[in-house]
Amino acid sequence: MSKLVRKNIASMEGYSWGEQPKNNTNLIKLNTNENPYPPSPLVIQALQTLHADELIRTYPDPLADELRAEVAKLNQVTDKNIVITNGGDEGLRLSLTTFVDPGENVCFADPSYSLYPVLAAIQDASIKPIAYSEGWEIPEAFSKEINSHNAKMSYLVNPHAPSGNFYSLDTLDKIAQSAPGILLIDEAYADFIDPSLNYRSADLLKKHDNVLILRTFSKGYSLADLRLGYLMGSEALISPITSKTRDSYNIGSIQQKLGVAAISDQEYSRKIWNQIRENRTYLRKSLTALGLNSHPSQSNFILAEIDSQKVDAHSLYLSLKEEQIFVRYFQNELLKNKLRITVGTEEQNESLIKAIERITQ
Ligand SMILES: *Cc1c(COP(=O)(O)O)cnc(C)c1O
Repeated sequence: MSKLVRKNIASMEGYSWGEQPKNNTNLIKLNTNENPYPPSPLVIQALQTLHADELIRTYPDPLADELRAEVAKLNQVTDKNIVITNGGDEGLRLSLTTFVDPGENVCFADPSYSLYPVLAAIQDASIKPIAYSEGWEIPEAFSKEINSHNAKMSYLVNPHAPSGNFYSLDTLDKIAQSAPGILLIDEAYADFIDPSLNYRSADLLKKHDNVLILRTFSKGYSLADLRLGYLMGSEALISPITSKTRDSYNIGSIQQKLGVAAISDQEYSRKIWNQIRENRTYLRKSLTALGLNSHPSQSNFILAEIDSQKVDAHSLYLSLKEEQIFVRYFQNELLKNKLRITVGTEEQNESLIKAIERITQ
């Protein structure tokens, strides 16, 4: 590595992403929590009727106004509470470059999204993980520790990844109340929460001016490749991102138009989310019947515990891969006897169950 590279960059580890096999015609990909169903037909229609030659010659609308208005309406907030980002991941990066000085403390409940420490290291912030224990409730000491570290930024994922555990608004409200800096609630999987739980986190924004909420089109709207997400927060937190720290043309017009089409078809989305919830219930029950227990999940994945008397998690992961079924294995003390399995279509889930049955017999 060149001596010209910043010290913190030279010494940090990059993000290690889930496998993205190149030849993916026959495989069953349950390793990176993509939506197994296609995006709304309105998105495909919008794509097919784009005048791309005209669109891509000029710069896009810098503020993605139309999309921002639709997102604001959907969440019952104003345009000024929203900044559209190039994938949720850009929102996470901007949360650090806008608010966290090098050396300031960044806390996150660990394990969760492994991109947080990577982005914090790029910013040369000081990383303070707060350990989960079995059960996946927010660590009891979370509020105390973010205060003792005087954390400028704290991250929680709801529903939690990789367990799928769900936290109530009340729990998050208390943490936001006592947070010494910003609390960013990463809701990458919120679309899959059971509607009967009445989770409306945008309500937190009315009460707290130190809360940021992250959403993405990648999972719920089946648009992982499009790179589209957004941050919601008080105008005081959102405006420096909108007007200063993001790239001025961070969202291309094709992204903007397809995002609008996706949001306009709530009926389709609700149908897909419902289907995934049904598949999730079925998959969890079937895994339990095979001796693979799991925490109840409000997300589009299940964290299955592998009974190591028959086969350990890593061997099962490898055996499934040989059968062209990809799931996620993590090298982590709390996760080493578990596999994170994305909820697939009914057929994919059936193939997975049959394969696990064969392998563990
Ligand atoms: C997928 C995901 C994101 C954002 O993904 P993008 O594709 O960049 O929108 C953020 N947080 C978590 C926990 C995720 O799983």
